[in-house]
Amino acid sequence: LSHKRTSEEIYNQACKIIPGGVSRNTIFHHPYPHYISHANGCYATDINNIQRLDFGNNMAALIHGHAHPDIVDAVIKQIRKGTAYTMATEAEVLYAQLLCDRTPSFEKIRFVNSGTEAVMAMIKTARAYTGRPKIAKAEGAYHGTYDFAEVSQTANPANWGDINQPNSVPVANGTPQSVLNDVIIFPYNDIEHTLAILDQNASEIACVIIDPVPHRVGLMEGKTNFIEAIYEWTRKNGALLAFDEVVTYRVNYGGAQQNYSVKPDLTALGKIIGGGFPVGAFAGRSDIMKVLDPRESKLLFPHSGTFSANPVSMTAGHTTMKMYNKDAILKLNTLTQKATDQIREAIKIADVPVSITGTGSMFRLHLKPSAPTSYREAYQNCETKTLINEMLDYLFLDEKIMMINTLTCMFSTVMTQKEIDMLSQALLNMFKR
Ligand code: PMP
Repeated sequence: LSHKRTSEEIYNQACKIIPGGVSRNTIFHHPYPHYISHANGCYATDINNIQRLDFGNNMAALIHGHAHPDIVDAVIKQIRKGTAYTMATEAEVLYAQLLCDRTPSFEKIRFVNSGTEAVMAMIKTARAYTGRPKIAKAEGAYHGTYDFAEVSQTANPANWGDINQPNSVPVANGTPQSVLNDVIIFPYNDIEHTLAILDQNASEIACVIIDPVPHRVGLMEGKTNFIEAIYEWTRKNGALLAFDEVVTYRVNYGGAQQNYSVKPDLTALGKIIGGGFPVGAFAGRSDIMKVLDPRESKLLFPHSGTFSANPVSMTAGHTTMKMYNKDAILKLNTLTQKATDQIREAIKIADVPVSITGTGSMFRLHLKPSAPTSYREAYQNCETKTLINEMLDYLFLDEKIMMINTLTCMFSTVMTQKEIDMLSQALLNMFKR
């Protein structure tokens, strides 16, 4: 009989050849990560044959859960015809049409392979168009791992600096000072101080990047007057408004941007639009996206990518987004609302200091009595992180429920009342402990 290895055994081998045993720190877990066997719908089964209800959905990337039969069928059909070519595919054009038809600000779109790459290309597009070097982003906001985009994402409080004028804090050791000099940090949802900071750099900012519901900041919605004020500022100062909708595109038919009266000039996409396969995209105004057009006599931003718009991701994404229509979105958002109502009830019954933020099909729990309104309020110190990790372990091991490591849940369309009952009961059990 062949020996079936445990997660610990696999991990021990992994550590010998992969730093920390993982290629993405997100899935690292003390003392070892659990290895998956298979997943279907909203359930994931590990190699010990333990099935869990999955609210992680690969960090918000799976809008129809795992292995949706329509997506699997479409992808298999494509794979039999080849997976990547040195030629254009119609799949790319058809999918580009679908996304541009959904969101009015998408006049032109290009595909890449990840959210990181989408944000990077969006920033470079903004720089190429404006001829300016700097970008502005919110303190604590995660936009992927491009040098400029990752500045001041989860900084150590010792380096935060003035709350009204946050420091540009590097994430990776060795980040050039020149990168930090070109990234302006502002406090999310704080109009007065954000505008003052932008004013100090008015002639040098290529784009202001906004995630309309930034997860790491606290998963609170961007206030309408905040977004509008930034939009107005960019109009007056020759800068672009760039949305990161890598996560939030799920919120509404045309993305979270549909919830605001102003339109971003550029948008970065990823996660759900790949239907479970690696993808990213950036889209926006035709006159700006022209910097990418190889037919121009002066090409301002030469851009390519071996696997960009590969037909497997295009097919999976197209099938996924066709199914994620207005009815599906309404149903999913209503179910999520119902879940948060039930969880608020559980919080009341157990009488615990827990609050909820989020919108659409996502929510985040905070271990404080009232919902945080800023990154610094939502910040988890070591003590809170330890408590959260204990809660996540309890949910994972005892209740067989998976969440994202900030106590965040990302819903999928294959969930039903049964799953939200399981979730709210598990949380009630946890709160009562
Ligand atoms: N932007 C946001 C808002 C994200 O949440 C993420 C990923 N969590 C990214 C960009 C980067 O996407 P990827 O991991 O696909 O590079």
